[in-house]
Amino acid sequence: MASASIEGVGFRNLIELVRERAERHPDRLAYVFLEDGETESQALTFGELEQRVRAVAARLQALGAADQRALLLYQPGLDFIVAFLGCVCARVVAVPAYPPRNNQNLHRLRTVIEDAGAGWVLTTSSLMSNLGTQFQRVPELGSLRWLSTDDVPTQERDAWKTPEVSGDTLAFLQYTSGSTGAPKGVMVSHGNVLHNERMIELTFGHSERTLFAGWLPLFHDMGLIGNVLQPLYLGIKSVLMPPAAFIQKPARWLHAISRYRATTSGGPNFAYDLCARKVSPEQRVGLDLSSWEVAFNGAEPVRASTFVRFTETFKDHGLKPSAFYPCYGMAETTLVVSGGSAAKPIIRNVAAVALEEGRVVEVEGGPASDGTRALVSCGRSWLEKVRVVDPTTRTVCPEDRVGEVWVSSGSVAQGYWNRPEQTEESFRARLAGTGEGPFLRTGDLGFFRGEELVITGRLKDVIIIRGRNHYPQDIEQTVEECHPALKASGGAAFSIEVEDEERLVVIQEVERSYLRNLDVADVTASIRQAVAEQHELHVHAVVLIKTSSILKTSSGKIQRQACRKAFLEGTLSVVGQWVENLHAER
Ligand code: ATP
Ligand code: MG
Repeated sequence: MASASIEGVGFRNLIELVRERAERHPDRLAYVFLEDGETESQALTFGELEQRVRAVAARLQALGAADQRALLLYQPGLDFIVAFLGCVCARVVAVPAYPPRNNQNLHRLRTVIEDAGAGWVLTTSSLMSNLGTQFQRVPELGSLRWLSTDDVPTQERDAWKTPEVSGDTLAFLQYTSGSTGAPKGVMVSHGNVLHNERMIELTFGHSERTLFAGWLPLFHDMGLIGNVLQPLYLGIKSVLMPPAAFIQKPARWLHAISRYRATTSGGPNFAYDLCARKVSPEQRVGLDLSSWEVAFNGAEPVRASTFVRFTETFKDHGLKPSAFYPCYGMAETTLVVSGGSAAKPIIRNVAAVALEEGRVVEVEGGPASDGTRALVSCGRSWLEKVRVVDPTTRTVCPEDRVGEVWVSSGSVAQGYWNRPEQTEESFRARLAGTGEGPFLRTGDLGFFRGEELVITGRLKDVIIIRGRNHYPQDIEQTVEECHPALKASGGAAFSIEVEDEERLVVIQEVERSYLRNLDVADVTASIRQAVAEQHELHVHAVVLIKTSSILKTSSGKIQRQACRKAFLEGTLSVVGQWVENLHAER
């Protein structure tokens, strides 16, 4: 085997990984796909995977696509995985994407095509036959060269030639979710992937006994680096299903874990919440979650209340409370930064008023009550250097201060594609005084408690009213829980400037069943009262909007800046609202 440049990693690049897995365990199942979330529709062993990957790579080499960017346009499924690895093995820069279904996806796709300067589109023969409609909707696609990869004959594999690839070679562009602005193309190298896969193995405590199951979108970092590449890295099986199969019937996720005895499976907080709310007692019959060792929860703030609700709902089905596994990461660090490793997730109750001033004052004992915030620790990091830094002075914060999380590691990607200024600003930061660096500025706020990292929220989304810092997710949680007519994970809080003062605006989706006879005055009054009581904040405007109409990323994250823009431009699907009359009482 080649000499390892990363401690504990036996491969210099991803091509060696793909080849080695096939040589060592050709007949072992690598991926199983459940098209409808229940029945096996596709499967590949490591041997079959490598043969198909090599055939696609050979075709790409023959077409002269090396070093160009290729957009991957696939429905969820194993063809995506073959195409992705085919690019990797042909030194083509893969750009994972998704065939657009709604206008928002369409917008994301057009942004990505233009930003990446893609020369190729890789897809399946069936999607290719629908080209006409795609062309009409995305004219940019017309000028690209197309290849359907599912009908490349496996015999073509013999024409493949090993390309020159080192750890520094660019493997793919991972577009960020676009929660705070336009998605940015993160340049991930072969070495970055291998480094982060090793970190995931260590952080999550994985081994050859690990078995994955999941439904996450494969074109986002958590689905790709987690559910697809970590199993390949470990040489173990991964059972996958389309995100839509899970969303339509969340019980399918849990039944896949139960049936395949999966040990690692997860998603953002909303997925756990959805299961706790939507999986009926009938659907829970026969569910055995005792194999589940790592129920990872990341990509969005982890809520203590979700942990309690989820473990309570499924404790009679073998779910171990120690399985609940908060973690933190992002595209810029390939994926994982930190993960919880304690026996049970650690919840830190901190004084709300101090937190609003950026100070961490722990409130000992007892559950969170008024005046405290329950923050779930995101565990420890195996990455080389993680610091909490004051973003203005650029000095390391003391433990009782909230600051920006800075990371320096072999997992930190090469920068943003075609954005030298933003790359310089975000990826090349140095500490004041010592000049230590370069560090990635994550844009996230948090603090350390010993080795544990606690994330408090995003710098860009913080609402500053009268000198106090409020985290939108806390206000959104208060809002959605204050009235049964309000939909979970369907709110956005932000501020706007009115008469020289920052004022709070709350947007919130209404549950479908409440739309017809909605008592707008009652609901908006409940929201104002709850926010006033729990956050000592006065709400300037409450806008109730249609079910599922809030602006979210394709990974389901709230886009607060986009919601703010839509509010100001009057483009929300309003079903009722209350706006403060600033001059009424004067
Ligand atoms: P964009 O950068 O385009 O605005 P994004 O930051 O949502 O979108 P991703 O890279 O997919 O794009 O997501 C990473 C971000 O998700 C982190 O920077 C952080 O803000 C948030 N995040 C991830 N895990 C957690 C967590 N455990 N708790 C709180 N926030 C988290
Ligand atoms: Mg980001």
